[in-house]
Amino acid sequence: QVQQALLALTIPLEMLQVVKSCMLQAMHKGLSCQTHAEANVRMLPTYICSTPDGTEKGDFLVVELCQSHIRTLWVTLLGDGNHSPQVTHKIFDMQQDIMQGSGEALFDFIAQCVHQFLADISSSQQRIPLGFVFPFSCRQTQLDKAELISWSKGFSCTDVEGKDVVQLLQAAINKQELYHVDVVALMNDTVGTMMTCSMGETPCEVALIVGTGTNSCFMAEARLVEMAEGTSGRMCVNTEWGYFGDDGTLCDILTPYDQSVDQESPNPGEKRFEKLVGSLYLGEIIRHVLIALATEKALFHGSNITVLRSKDVLKTQQVLKIINAEGGMAEARRTLEALGLQPSERDCCRVQQVCRAVVSRAAALCAAGLAAILSHMCQSRKLERLVVNVGVDGELYRDYARFGEILQNVTGLLAPECLATLLPAVDGTGQGAAIVTAVGLRLAAQRREVDCLLAPLRLSHADLERVQALMRQEMELGLGCETNANASVRMLPTYVQNTPDGTERGDFLALDLGGTNFRVLVVRVAQDGIRIASKVYVIPTTIMQGTGEALFDHIIECIMDFQLKEDLMEQTLPLGFTFSFPCQQLGLDKAILLTWTKGFSASDCVGKDVVQLLREAAQRKQHLGLKVVAVVNDTVGTMMSCGYDDPKCEIGLIVGTGTNACYMEETRNVGTVEGEQGRMCINMEWGAFGDNGCLDDIFTSFDRLVDEKTINVGKQRFEKLISGMYLGEIVRHILLALVEKQLLFCGKPCPKLQTKDIFQTKFLSSIEMDGLALQQVQGTLQDLELEASFEDSILVQEVCQTVSTRAAHLCAAGLAAVVEKMRENRGLDQLAVSVGVDGTLYKMHPHFSKRLQQMLHHLAPNCTVTFLESEDGSGKGAALVAAVACRGSEP
Ligand code: ADP
Ligand code: MG
Repeated sequence: QVQQALLALTIPLEMLQVVKSCMLQAMHKGLSCQTHAEANVRMLPTYICSTPDGTEKGDFLVVELCQSHIRTLWVTLLGDGNHSPQVTHKIFDMQQDIMQGSGEALFDFIAQCVHQFLADISSSQQRIPLGFVFPFSCRQTQLDKAELISWSKGFSCTDVEGKDVVQLLQAAINKQELYHVDVVALMNDTVGTMMTCSMGETPCEVALIVGTGTNSCFMAEARLVEMAEGTSGRMCVNTEWGYFGDDGTLCDILTPYDQSVDQESPNPGEKRFEKLVGSLYLGEIIRHVLIALATEKALFHGSNITVLRSKDVLKTQQVLKIINAEGGMAEARRTLEALGLQPSERDCCRVQQVCRAVVSRAAALCAAGLAAILSHMCQSRKLERLVVNVGVDGELYRDYARFGEILQNVTGLLAPECLATLLPAVDGTGQGAAIVTAVGLRLAAQRREVDCLLAPLRLSHADLERVQALMRQEMELGLGCETNANASVRMLPTYVQNTPDGTERGDFLALDLGGTNFRVLVVRVAQDGIRIASKVYVIPTTIMQGTGEALFDHIIECIMDFQLKEDLMEQTLPLGFTFSFPCQQLGLDKAILLTWTKGFSASDCVGKDVVQLLREAAQRKQHLGLKVVAVVNDTVGTMMSCGYDDPKCEIGLIVGTGTNACYMEETRNVGTVEGEQGRMCINMEWGAFGDNGCLDDIFTSFDRLVDEKTINVGKQRFEKLISGMYLGEIVRHILLALVEKQLLFCGKPCPKLQTKDIFQTKFLSSIEMDGLALQQVQGTLQDLELEASFEDSILVQEVCQTVSTRAAHLCAAGLAAVVEKMRENRGLDQLAVSVGVDGTLYKMHPHFSKRLQQMLHHLAPNCTVTFLESEDGSGKGAALVAAVACRGSEP
């Protein structure tokens, strides 16, 4: 019979595995918005998003509401890694009636304790930050905002449930005229334990309480804490796992003894897990086992066991002494005899076995819960192996060494991928509460500074509407014959008057110069589609920035090489030349270079017709079969290539190394070109928007630093806010400023970050990737020799988001001006138009296109704009311009 009872109390490993996976499921349910309401394990957000970094410093007041007393502490942190905080504390006993009285009386009492404590220590500090340890389930929405969900542990004060307890405490403190005391943070006791155990460099990211009750908390990935919106990084979650099993999940392991304990408790059916683990219940479970065994005559033969029928006769401390190897048997005898029983030697031995079984089961269940937390952390952080510190507090762990051993071993078996180091909490929760308060204050101050630094980069809707209006104004200036010379947006006619209609046919050569790569292509436009063969050629910087002759000679050499390889030497194909620099176009095949951009500076080209330069080079190289039909900008090429499939595509947009746009304007509006009929594609050259100073108030100090280090200072100002060549640089300068202000990388100097262009724009894409574990962000930064803490990574991510969002929104403001003008041109209430887009930044950045489209919709609500990503816009597009030009003229 005894064996049977012991067996019922022993949970096999496979069963513990099941408990672990049920706990995992329950945790997920609590984390998810959809299922949170009915979840037993509530996974409450605590708004504690950071573990201490050891720099916390200052004096803090802590108030802890405990079972039968209030504890006040004065904690001085020295900024030494929290190794030696100085703590003064005082305990104020609390009358039983306060626990069940009015809420006002409770908080008044707490405030009086604070008053008296402060009088005792006679601090002269100006402002005193207070951390409040409040060990009840709260719905927290900020570090200092927490609604009590429900009382427990014998408390039932009126008018507190559903109210913000921080406010209640602050009001009571104000009533005491302690206006210099600010309640800065509220936390659960588990969180306090976790923080207490965070020492110096090694953070503690999990805490367990195994005392009267049981609970746990851990640092979860904030994106998974759906109840706390808009937070990134990590957040400590208070699991409230005592309620695990309230939906019946644990019924397979519940024994008749557990059922009896539950039935006799004040809250039957609730806190089923806690009733298996918490010390408040262990004595009761044992009592019921003993009653059952005695009734079956397996124990206390001949004794009157009525005494065992009264509740709580077995105290936890007695149980813990009985199970001790040394003196345990004697203690068992003493305890049983004190109850008036006459135990035999064998009875004592059996009672000891029962006690051990019940406590071991508690430890094993606790391990199953811990294993669930660890596996969850390991998985959500996308780690193969998790190494973590676990702070543990509570009398079961403190007073019975075997509990810790079982906890450690079983956790290891259930979560073999995790290595947990259990740390005993030293000063309960008080010290931790001071640290939380300090961290809260530090983060709030940092947040203010970061916001202040980034504020100029965060453009409001009103700002963007202003940019849109300015763009519109500059467009008009650029189109006007007299005003064109003074406009920052050049609005260059392209002599492209038609978009493709799908009837174009033939083989064409194309050149693409002005992007990252120089390419030569052959494009075959046929009934059944377009086929392209191309080759990329390198243009060495020496040639980019050498003489014009050398540059164009090099281009011809590349063409000849390509024709040779493609076996095209014998043919004279019409050639479309994508030349992505600002040109004054005088005809489809006549384009005067106005200025180099994007790192080119070859001499003797500005002011010359680039088609002529190409033809001259061909002659020098004796390459006679070259027939240049059209020179186009890459924006035009992009529009044309998308226009082949979608006739509504009348806008081209580039967001790559640089940025630019073109669109179909009414010829009558183009003051710089003769003619009133039809439309002409206008190459806006919008990258130069703002070069006349009209955007000066949008530029930040970071933009100016970036501009100063470019080869075209003061030029292409709009482009320098948006495109791939510059975003990384802007981020780099912001990061340097954050380091300078000690807000990043602990203010440690970062020599590598001083290097121009070291922070590439593609890093923004990878750092902003959704669901990317922050470890990977750290990895990206590590490549730059930047040792990023977790908080650093989040801040870098925020900087990247701010910069790329501004770029996308500015781009939207520019496009809004374009589509609205087109709509008005055509006298439409609603315009439906498509934009062909090219550029790696647009295509590869995880959020750029979405942010651009959303903002455009907001700024131009009467236009329905469809975005098409062009495939090889500059290659295919140039050929299509040539094809459209040849349309009808040749077979
Ligand atoms: P171009 O504009 O010269 O024709 P691209 O459209 O390919 O060339 O754009 C190149 C630019 O895109 C580079 O300057 C780089 O800054 C940026 N870039 C490259 N990879 C990425 C990426 N993964 N995410 C965002 N930007 C990128
Ligand atoms: Mg390009």
